[in-house]
Order: sequence, then structure tokens, then C-alpha cells
Amino acid sequence: GKHVCECNACYGGPHCSVFLPECIADADSGDPMFLEPFWLKHAASSTIVVPGWHRMSYEFNDDSLISKELDAQIRKLHAVTGNAVTDGRFIIFGVGATQLLHAAVHALSTTNHPSSPSRVVASTPYYPIYKEQTEFFNSEDYKFEGDTSLCNNNSGCQGNFIELVTSPNNPDGQLKKAVLQGPSAKTIHDFAYYWPHYTPIPALADENLMIFTLSKLTGHGGSRFGWAIIKDEAVHQRMLTYMNLSTYGVARETQLRVLKLLKVAVENEGKEMFNFGYQTMRNRWRKLSKTMSLSKRFSIQELETQFCSFSEEVRGATPAYAWLKCEREEDKDCNAVLHSVNITGRHGSLFGAESRFVRLSLVKSDDDFDLLLKRMGTLVSQENNND
Ligand code: PMP
Repeated sequence: GKHVCECNACYGGPHCSVFLPECIADADSGDPMFLEPFWLKHAASSTIVVPGWHRMSYEFNDDSLISKELDAQIRKLHAVTGNAVTDGRFIIFGVGATQLLHAAVHALSTTNHPSSPSRVVASTPYYPIYKEQTEFFNSEDYKFEGDTSLCNNNSGCQGNFIELVTSPNNPDGQLKKAVLQGPSAKTIHDFAYYWPHYTPIPALADENLMIFTLSKLTGHGGSRFGWAIIKDEAVHQRMLTYMNLSTYGVARETQLRVLKLLKVAVENEGKEMFNFGYQTMRNRWRKLSKTMSLSKRFSIQELETQFCSFSEEVRGATPAYAWLKCEREEDKDCNAVLHSVNITGRHGSLFGAESRFVRLSLVKSDDDFDLLLKRMGTLVSQENNND
């Protein structure tokens, strides 16, 4: 029969062999397809098969919604990576970090105080979902209030705060610490990118409420799996209630698949997967940095070199995103400038920042990254020819 191939957006023709010069370099989404080659190489050992009669029940045999084996595997993963404390901590699962973020905001908010809802804040630039989700759920218990700087030198600091701390940060890759202090400030640490692919691991994190996701760890965003590591028993209970009433847990098929994937991920002390991830991201960041070093019109963020306790070496940054700035006064809408050479990024304004910033995703497939790099090269050489 006739084989119909589905071409990548930039190729057409009978064998997907014709490059379409007008195609868009899509650097918008943070879909970590850069890990696909690793899983292709480990196809056999990462495969699961689920017969029709398997795992039908709502609960596991111990009546829990959480696989004990997967819980143990996650603790092992953190021990191998050295990125977070799990001893004596509660772990719960969620449908991606997305669900856990909301469960955490709910669990930390002050109920029964409709006149003084908890004030949800994050440092700019921040991951847009924090604002969008908090506003969407429109609870009496909490309100999104924007940047952490609204409370400084003790002014504007009345009430209870929930600070979302993203480290490394999405969009700019900086390692972050909580800004607000004191008994009325609670924190949620979003550690989606706190893995050796994206950052040196300077220390074992030991925060009250830490959120991780499979999406950025193994690249399986579509499996919709995340977990939270929680110190406080009452907070754990409130998050469990949220999970029970919203989805009644995470699909058992998903838990089975995640267990299989994490077993491969921690093989050889995690060296294979994390080296693949780190090297891929390092090469991409080096190439992009080299291109951008020739530009005065555009700049990308600077990140520190640090000792990584996982690899036991000093490492440069390998961020998931470039946080691009248009330096010229007239380039106020940086994404529009990029559109002129068929690049799509994500508007800085979504992150609470100026529109002269754009986030460019560096975690997609090699084809996506190569096209982005090529287009950025075109933009920079236009600038230098005109000088
Ligand atoms: N937090 C941050 C900082 C993220 O960048 C993302 C995904 N882009 C998420 C949470 C959500 O991840 P998940 O796929 O697990 O819902």
C-alpha cells in the first residue's frame, strides 16, 4: 500500500524531503521532546503491557490510591540525584504539577476568613499558570496578588502569604530562594526543573512543600504525572482531600508507566539519562550563546557556574529556556520582532514582565532547536550587515 508520511511542519513533498523556507520556528511550548532519543534507545526496557483485566480496581490492594512501589522508586530517584530530602516526608501524586500546584495553594490557604483571603505571590518573571489558575478557581480563600515585591520593608505585608518559588525559574533559569519571611508567609517550591538536565544541583532541597513533575524529568508530559513532598501532616491531609474530591487519584496505568520509566531513569545511578539530558542542553545553550554573543540588539540571560553535587563537578548553566531581551528602544514588542523572521516565542508580558522580553523554548526536538538557531543566526547577521 501507499505509505503516507506525516511531515514535520518545516518539510513537505512526497518523502518529507522538501524544506519549506517560510515555516515557523516554534519555540513557544516547553514540551521536553529533547529526551525522545534517550527513550528510543531504551525502548525495550521502558515498555509496559497492560492486559484488559489488569489494574481495574479504583484502589491498590492496601486500599490506597498511591502505588507503594512508585513511592519507593521516587524516594530512590531523589537519593540518586541528591536534589531533595524525602526521609520522614509525605509524598502524594497528582495529575501533573498543574493539579498539585492548585492542591497546594488550597492546602496552604486560610479557610473561613472570607474577608482576608491568603495572598498568592511570585517573583517576576513567573510561570503564568500561577496567576491564571488562581484567578480561574476564583476561591474566597486566596487571591493572586502579583509580585513578591508588593511586600517590602514591612509595608504591604499584612495578611497571610503563599509564595510560589520556582527554582530554577521558568522563564529565566535562575535558582531562586523564597523572598518573604516570617510566620505569615508559606511557600510552595516548584522544582519542575530542579534536575541535572537544567541546572547544577548545588544542594539537597529541604523545603516544606516541594513539587516535581515527570514532564521535565523524563519528557513524558503527556502522562500527566507529578508528585509533592510534604513536611507537615495537616497540609498533607488537606492535599489528599483535594485529590480525593477532584480526581480520586492518578490513573493506575499512569502509575505503572511512571514506575517503569523511573526504573530506567535511575539505572547506573542515573548517569545515562542525566548525562544525555545535560549534554543535550549544554550543547544547545553553547550554540545559542555563541550566536547571541555577536548581537547588540538582543541579549539572553546570564547564569552562574556552580558546583553540582550530582555530577561532582563545576557546571555551567543549561537552562530550559532562553529569556531573550530586545535591547533597542524601538523594539518594545520583542515577539513581533521575532515574528519578522518566522520565530514564535512566548510573550514576556505573560510572565508579568515587559514585552521586550520573550521566552524561547530550548527543550523541544533537535529539528525544532536547529531551526530556531538558524533563524536567530539570520536575525543577528541582518543586524551586523546593517551596522
Ligand atoms: N511548573 C512549572 C514551572 C512548569 O514549567 C510546568 C510545565 N511547563 C509545570 C509546573 C506543569 O507541569 P506538568 O506537566 O507536570 O503539569
